[in-house]
Amino acid sequence: MYNKVTSRIIHTLKEIVGETNVLLSETDKDAFSHDETTGLKHYPEVIVKTHTTEEIAKVFSIANKEKIPVTPRGGGTGLSGGAVPIYGGIVLSTQNMNKILEIDRDNLMAVVEAGVITGELRREVEKYGLFYPINPASLDSCTIGGNIAEATAGANTVKYGTTRDYVCGLEAVLPNGEIIKMGGKLVKNATGYGLMHLLVGSEGTLAIVSKAILRLIPLPKEKVNLLFPFNDLISCSNAIRQIIKSKITPTALDFMDKGCVKACEQFLKREVPFNQAEIHLLVELDGNNRESLEEEYIKIGEICSENGALDALIAEDRPTQERLWEARKNVREALMFISPIIDEEDVVVPRDELTHLLEGINKISKKYSLPILNYGHPGDGNVHVNILKRDIDDKRWTEVVPKAVEDIFKLTVSLGGMISGEHGIGIAKKNYLSLAMDKTQIELMKKIKRTFDPNNILNPGKIFDL
Ligand SMILES: Cc1cc2nc3c(=O)[nH]c(=O)nc-3n(C[C@H](O)[C@H](O)[C@H](O)COP(=O)(O)OP(=O)(O)OC[C@H]3O[C@@H](n4cnc5c(N)ncnc54)[C@H](O)[C@@H]3O)c2cc1C
Repeated sequence: MYNKVTSRIIHTLKEIVGETNVLLSETDKDAFSHDETTGLKHYPEVIVKTHTTEEIAKVFSIANKEKIPVTPRGGGTGLSGGAVPIYGGIVLSTQNMNKILEIDRDNLMAVVEAGVITGELRREVEKYGLFYPINPASLDSCTIGGNIAEATAGANTVKYGTTRDYVCGLEAVLPNGEIIKMGGKLVKNATGYGLMHLLVGSEGTLAIVSKAILRLIPLPKEKVNLLFPFNDLISCSNAIRQIIKSKITPTALDFMDKGCVKACEQFLKREVPFNQAEIHLLVELDGNNRESLEEEYIKIGEICSENGALDALIAEDRPTQERLWEARKNVREALMFISPIIDEEDVVVPRDELTHLLEGINKISKKYSLPILNYGHPGDGNVHVNILKRDIDDKRWTEVVPKAVEDIFKLTVSLGGMISGEHGIGIAKKNYLSLAMDKTQIELMKKIKRTFDPNNILNPGKIFDL
């Protein structure tokens, strides 16, 4: 189906990007054989680190001519296997394309290369009183290119939306080596099909993004964080529903169940407040006016208390705020600490269906006798469902988990939801895509893929098989 990378091709790649940017050692191949998805590993034949858009174009020209698969890679923090080179070939790393080219304070836009680390951009624009609100827990390792490919969300989505809402312009390279420029420093654009937005969330299957123009907003001056412990799911869900209904829009509305809190305590080697509660609800509010922020957090406190919150913690200064979020930010590592093998799902439902979703997941956990721990962004209806392997034997794990996952996905779809809220389909969920999207839509996506990439060399085997 694909050709192998020969020594002649390696020679040409070295001519394009320079000898030191073509990696061939077993250690390098191992490092680039996986992302953060558990249990997925495939070795590339070669890793190529590009510095410019033109270099990407030249790599594509040769890969397209020689029928070599190319897998784009940013920070490698993906959770659906998107950067895993399942057919070998070339892994194209944007690690060295890491320059913030411009912070345009007249237009409130940033121009960046694809390999810029998201947290670095956030910190840099803050120096100018500006805000790039995309805030995944991986922000210090993931890249803008990876965020665009995955339409990445994170803790601030409930108020500020996802990466989709901030991309105003893109420069990208098509699999045939052509460079395209879409959009610009434009707040709006009604010119032709929204090709630029088609690339956002395309999981690196249609083109490689080399540069992006991103919208910035003014940095809110004030911030407050609150933690409410609850003793049962229904009370917490009722509080969430009423917060949303109250027309206060928190910057973050996140939760963790007791199992997650306990795992964080083991991982962080410290006690987490309210560790006996069944659920922790974390709320963040921001704004420019101290008084109105106080009104909002008092109102949220009342809602939580009326719905059975056991207590409340308020963090108004940065160190206390960071401490309050420490457990939530480390929860994934904490779960990996207590169970190195986890099946992680990322379902999303309408926000008023959260109780039904979590109750249903609980039933599925009992049906298959599988330990399932949940955390996530209830303000977005997005739950990270974690099935822990711990001491379950391999045979039962491989037999039972796919059935439990299918049940979780069917439940999600029956509640009006989707099988991924932010981590994408990649390899991990492609067998379940037809549960969430009908045949006509999947066929349309395949036709789009064939139009962009007739030889199917760019990130093949992701989202669907052609
Ligand atoms: C601890 C942890 C916490 C996380 N928290 C969140 C969260 O809160 N919210 C959230 O949404 N996600 C989260 N993620 C998932 C992940 O960080 C995001 O999907 C992120 O956007 C991936 O970026 P990356 O640079 O690491 O991409 P990679 O993993 O390198 O690649 C991801 C996909 O993007 C493609 N790609 C990469 N660069 C480009 C490019 N320049 N052009 C085209 N395609 C490209 C790859 O081929 C692949 O398909 C988390 C992951 C971890 C490990």
